[in-house]
Amino acid sequence: MNVGCNGAVDNPGQRIGRNRTQQEAHAMNLMLLGAQGSGKGTQGALLASRFGLVLCASGDMLREAMAQDTLIGQQVRPYVDQGNLVPDELMIGMVLERLRGLKDVRGIILDGFPRTLAQAQSLDARLAEMGTSIAQVIYLEVPRELLLSRLLDRYICRAHGHIYNLKTNPPKTPGICDIDGSELYQRVDDQGEQIQQRLNIFFSETLQLTDYYGKQGKLITVDGTQSIEVVNQAILADLKVTDR
Ligand SMILES: [Zn+2]
Repeated sequence: MNVGCNGAVDNPGQRIGRNRTQQEAHAMNLMLLGAQGSGKGTQGALLASRFGLVLCASGDMLREAMAQDTLIGQQVRPYVDQGNLVPDELMIGMVLERLRGLKDVRGIILDGFPRTLAQAQSLDARLAEMGTSIAQVIYLEVPRELLLSRLLDRYICRAHGHIYNLKTNPPKTPGICDIDGSELYQRVDDQGEQIQQRLNIFFSETLQLTDYYGKQGKLITVDGTQSIEVVNQAILADLKVTDR
């Protein structure tokens, strides 16, 4: 499931005032932490639609900033085109740009950024300058072995990114999307060596963020091995927000 930052979030019931105090009072900026295959994309989309938040997956944000040719989009393009990592400052700039552009929504859900402690610290500082903050951080805990088997069985449709799992959610016709009939493929980074490398980065670097946000009293840890529905209920039980 893929809801971009521009995914229309029409939520007229939640008008947010222009002034900072009011904005902060309504702010509901969430962050999802989890390895590839932890189900955070799915949970992010569920939370976004439930609370009228804008889901900001780092890859989508990059693509959209470039497609819209924003100032940040122009700055990140050379890095993306050359397959290099986008510098932290630009990634943070993109998040702030997104926050400034919000109208009639309560906040964002970050997915895929920050990945390191340094990035998290810089992001916090810049959000504080804007008079806002990350309200809560949701960590979907899944053991490495299960992540590996999920990723090795994961196939995605070319047309819309619908996600299948050969064991738990296979398509009716092998290799074809049930919904739109397009071809199913496996992402390059869902294969063998690449998976191991990405999981190494997650467990050595990104996992440190659970301590960092835990100390701030913002961390919600959920057992991500359970079904989508059960995981979603567990998150909702711990979120300190009111329904809209
Ligand atoms: Zn599809």
